[in-house]
Order: sequence, then C-alpha cells, then structure tokens
Amino acid sequence: MGALWEKSKRIRSAAMAGSTCPSMPSLRPCRTEELAAEQGMTVNRPEFDEAFKKHQELSRAGSEQVFKGGLLDHSETTTKYHTATHLLHKALRMTLGDHVAQKGSNITAERMRFDFSHNAPMTADEVAKVQAIVNEQIQRDLPVGMEVMSLDDAKAGGAIALFGEKYESQVKVYTIGDFSTGVFSREVCGGPHVERTGTMGKFTIQKEQSSSAGVRRIRAILE
Ligand SMILES: [Zn+2]
Repeated sequence: MGALWEKSKRIRSAAMAGSTCPSMPSLRPCRTEELAAEQGMTVNRPEFDEAFKKHQELSRAGSEQVFKGGLLDHSETTTKYHTATHLLHKALRMTLGDHVAQKGSNITAERMRFDFSHNAPMTADEVAKVQAIVNEQIQRDLPVGMEVMSLDDAKAGGAIALFGEKYESQVKVYTIGDFSTGVFSREVCGGPHVERTGTMGKFTIQKEQSSSAGVRRIRAILE
C-alpha cells in the first residue's frame, strides 16, 4: 500500500506540469503563463485537501452573498466562463503553439472575451479545432482541483513569472484534470472555478478578430 501510494504520488507530481498565471482576486481576468518544464512539483496531499476544502467553503460563502442580491445565476455563469478561459488558453497553445500567451479576458453573464498573442488571423480549421478541444474537456467532466503553495515552489516547478506582475507570497494553483484522468491545464490563479468541467455546457467560438498589434481576440459563449 505504501509503495502504491508513493507511486501514485510520483505520477501525480509528474502530472503537475501545466500552465500558471499570477494569483489574482476573484474574477479579475486571469493571465496565464505555461510552466516551462514538465517536472518537479511535489504534492502534499493533506495540505492539498485542506486548501481545497477552504476554497470550496469560500466559494459557497461567495455564492450565498451573491444569492442575497438575486444574482446567483450570474455568479455560476461567470465562474463557468472563467474556467473556460483556462481550457481555451491551453487549447490555443496546443493548436497554434507555445508562443500563445493570455493577454487579457473579459467575462459577463452572456459571453467571454479572451485576448492572446498571435500574429495571424486563425483559420476556420484552427478555430474548429480549438473549439473541439475545449468541448472534449467539458465532455470528459474533468475535476478542477486547487492547491496553495509558495510562489517559490511554483517557480521551482518551472512557472514563469510575468514581468511587472505583483505576486502574493502564497499562490493558488488550479489544475483541470488529475493523475487519474491526466492533467489538461494548470494555472496559478485566484479563481473561483467550477468543481467539474461537465457542468459548463457547450462552448462555441462566435468570433475571432484582431485586438491590437500581435494580439487576437476570441468571443465565445457557453450554453
Ligand atoms: Zn483562472
């Protein structure tokens, strides 16, 4: 049993490569940087569970507060869109290349906008591929987990610090997928996020256009 646990821990650690962005307050657009190396983060399971529990309690408290204002649906919807930005960012990197970096996002209850570095308009095939990758991860109903760790630990695992970004000493790392399903994406971010991707609905890219020099903008909806 001990050996099996050690093995699963190694697999989980190996799977803990992915993407990171600076920790941010709730629903502030989350910028993202991919981990440079597919290696190296150790997971402390009790700390992970404790941190995840705290996050869920905080999420519930947030929902209750918003519900009092009659905006529960708004909160749930924007949380889904926020998780969608993580899926979209990874899908864009898989499709267009590792030069893609999130430059900003804007979320309302009706749609999301996502800006990213890329020099050319996307082809119809690329748009279709990115959309299919995102929907595949939604259909897989992947778990979304959160860990709290020091920024040093995140960096030791290969996280790239964004120039000019102010970091907290402890950052939240959100992982979509786990060691049993395979990690799809991993970002340092303030959250909140859905607990499973299966609740997000169907993802549709409505528009892809220029935002500024070298930056493209995607408008997408969940329904
Ligand atoms: Zn995020």
